[in-house]
Amino acid sequence: MLEVTWRDEEPRRLGVRPLRCACACAGCVDEMTGVRTLDVNAVPEDIAITDMQLVGNYAVKFVFSDGHDTGIYSWDRLYKMQNVT
Ligand SMILES: [Zn+2]
Repeated sequence: MLEVTWRDEEPRRLGVRPLRCACACAGCVDEMTGVRTLDVNAVPEDIAITDMQLVGNYAVKFVFSDGHDTGIYSWDRLYKMQNVT
């Protein structure tokens, strides 16, 4: 679980696996067609976040335990994903 506390709100929880499956990087989604190329069935049930880094002030980058480290999630996108578990 990833717990995010937004300003003036209660902490919200995001499941790590849905987060990984929603990755929108060029390795997971075809840039031309927008079609998801990631096989979500291949994402381990017990996937975890092993590291995270801030990207400027607009996004965060996660490193997942499957070695995937190219997914950048804007705060806006994470906010809209809240309560996905
Ligand atoms: Zn990705």
